Amino acid sequence: MNRPSQIITRFAPSPTGYLHLGHAYSAKRAHDFAKEQGGRFLLRIEDIDTGRCKPAYEQAIYEDLAWVGLTWETPVRRQSEHSNDYQQALKVLDQQGLLFPCFCTRKDIRREIENSGRAPHDITAHSPEGPLYPGTCRALTRTERQEKKAANIPYALRLDMAKALQQVTSQTLSWTDLEAGEQITTAETLNHLLGDAVLARKDIPTSYHLSVVVDDHLQNISHVIRGTDLFHATHLHRLLQCLLGYETPTYLHHKLLTDENGWRYAKRDNAETLRFMRENGEKLDFG
Ligand code: GLU
Repeated sequence: MNRPSQIITRFAPSPTGYLHLGHAYSAKRAHDFAKEQGGRFLLRIEDIDTGRCKPAYEQAIYEDLAWVGLTWETPVRRQSEHSNDYQQALKVLDQQGLLFPCFCTRKDIRREIENSGRAPHDITAHSPEGPLYPGTCRALTRTERQEKKAANIPYALRLDMAKALQQVTSQTLSWTDLEAGEQITTAETLNHLLGDAVLARKDIPTSYHLSVVVDDHLQNISHVIRGTDLFHATHLHRLLQCLLGYETPTYLHHKLLTDENGWRYAKRDNAETLRFMRENGEKLDFG
C-alpha cells in the first residue's frame, strides 16, 4: 500500500462533554497543518461509547469549532455508524489467532494482581491505562471459554500480545513523530505500557484503539496530530497497523495546554469550555 501523497489531518473528539481550550489548540494544530500545505482537514466524531456520548455535545462540537474559525469536510465520519468496519478488522486479527475472550471484571483483575504477590502499584507504575492485565483468561481452555459463553458471561476481546509480538518479530516497528523524532516500538514498551489490550469492550463491540487505527487507515490520514497524552497509545497503534496490513501515518504529539495553575484542561471544568468562553465574549488565547 502506498503512503497517501496528499496531506490529510483530522481532529477526532468524543462527544462526552463540552470542548475546552486544549481541544481548540489540538484541532487548530491539525487544521492549520493541513491548510498551510494545501491539504485536507477532517473532523471525526468518536462516539462508540454510546452510554457516555450525547447529541447535544456533538452539536456543540460543530458550533465551538466553527467559533474557533475552523472549517472541515462534510459529511463527518461518526464512528457509531461504522461498526462493520471494526468487526471486519477484528475478524482479520481473529483469523490470525491473536484475540482471546476475557470474562474478567475489574475486581477479578485487581484480585489476580494481588494474589500474584506483586504490589498493584508495581504493575500500574508503567501503564497509563490502569493495571496491566495479568493474563487470567489467556490460559482458559477452549471448553472453559465455551462454558462461560454459554452461561452468558459478558466478555471483552483482548489482543494476545505475546502472539502478536511473535508475528512481527522479523520487523522493526518504527514511526516518526515530527517533534520527538524517530520512534521504535519494542516488545518491552508494548508489554510494559499496554499488555493484552482490550480491542472490543464488553459493552461495545470495539474500542478506542481499534476504531482509531481503522478510521485513520480508511480515511487515508497522512498525519495524526494529537496530544502527548496519547503518545504511548501510538506504540499499540503501530503494532495494529502492522497486523492489519495498514500504512503508518506520520505523527505529531503536541504539548498539552495547562491552565494558570498548571493543570490540564478537563471537560468537567465548565468555566474552561469553549462554549463558556464564547458566551462570555472571551478571546481564544493559547498562551
Ligand atoms: N477521541 C480521542 C479523544 O477524544 C482522540 C483520538 C485521537 O486523536 O487519536 O481523546
